[in-house]
Amino acid sequence: MCFKRAAGRALLLAVLSPLLAACAPFHGRTEAYSQSFFAMDTYMTFTVYDDDAEDARAALRRAQDEIEELEALWSVTDQDSDIYAVNHSGGRSVTVRDKTAELLSFALKMARETDGALEPTLYPVLTAWGFTTDENRIPSGDQLAGLLEKTGFDRVVLEGNSVTLQDGMMLDLGAVGKGYAGDRAQQCLREQGINSALLDIGGNIQAVGTKPDGSDWKLGLRSPFGEGIFGTLQVSDKAVVTSGNYERYFIGEDGVRYGHIVDPRTGYPVDNGLASVTVIAEEGKLCDALSTALFVMGTEDAAAYWRIHQEEQPFDMILVTESREVYVTENVKDRFNLQDKYRDMSIYQIALSEKQE
Ligand code: AMP
Ligand code: MG
Repeated sequence: MCFKRAAGRALLLAVLSPLLAACAPFHGRTEAYSQSFFAMDTYMTFTVYDDDAEDARAALRRAQDEIEELEALWSVTDQDSDIYAVNHSGGRSVTVRDKTAELLSFALKMARETDGALEPTLYPVLTAWGFTTDENRIPSGDQLAGLLEKTGFDRVVLEGNSVTLQDGMMLDLGAVGKGYAGDRAQQCLREQGINSALLDIGGNIQAVGTKPDGSDWKLGLRSPFGEGIFGTLQVSDKAVVTSGNYERYFIGEDGVRYGHIVDPRTGYPVDNGLASVTVIAEEGKLCDALSTALFVMGTEDAAAYWRIHQEEQPFDMILVTESREVYVTENVKDRFNLQDKYRDMSIYQIALSEKQE
């Protein structure tokens, strides 16, 4: 749903260029234009930097339209959405829109690559915990065992735009959708001629280009312990996505904290000593899929996954453990700084060669 602006603008400049030499400056000052809205169950703020207020506002509108279109396709509760149709198909094949097929295909690929740590069919289990409705409860072990039988990414059949789920199985693409949406919003803005923007998608960041002065964006990383910003990260042209069970959780009657990221092997919220995982890469959808999956894997398996995938799927990560250790991959270590207040946290480097650690 994006409309190209760049070509039109180039043409206009070509036409005006003989005039420009003789006239006062044609462009205004580069300024920030922001737009906030609620979508995909979270607050989003898009800020673009441009020298033309009308162009900037039009680009922001297009990007928001794109997000709202995707939300309408992927909502699990909206009865007109593609995902709702698939989840209520009773085992029949459903034809979905191109963008849904693309997202599902990517989610299934990442589920395979992460050995099922990312599990796009976990919806029945998540519903039993009440994470989808915020009416939280602790399911019994038997109930979870029964529901886990209704999950399994390898049983989803996707052929072109046709999706077939066995009766009782249900999709939830919440762990990858916002990252993909960020990529699409970025693409929209680029097509509108915007080269510098910061997209905040519920705390996940898509940094488009550099700051208007050409320098890196300096992002604050939220402490998983609820104490504000614990560190900063300098990036340009990157997505930065964080997952953690501090983001959405409930305290059970047993006094235990249950978080919204569930281990697909057990059906229970992840409890492996990790507090948060931040993934940095070019594409938001990769960051989003990986931040959830690596959080499920835990520190050691996440480090192993990073080492194995550096060649064909480069990304970086910052892991924070419950015992306040911070593990940073070697490529991003110089771009990350702990805030003075958090000097009690210990920083470790994850190196390509295990021995260097
Ligand atoms: P994120 O914030 O990207 O880490 O995604 C977390 C959301 O994905 C949760 O709120 C659930 O809706 C869903 N989810 C929880 N555990 C998993 C999992 N292991 N695989 C895929 N989706 C999950
Ligand atoms: Mg995710």
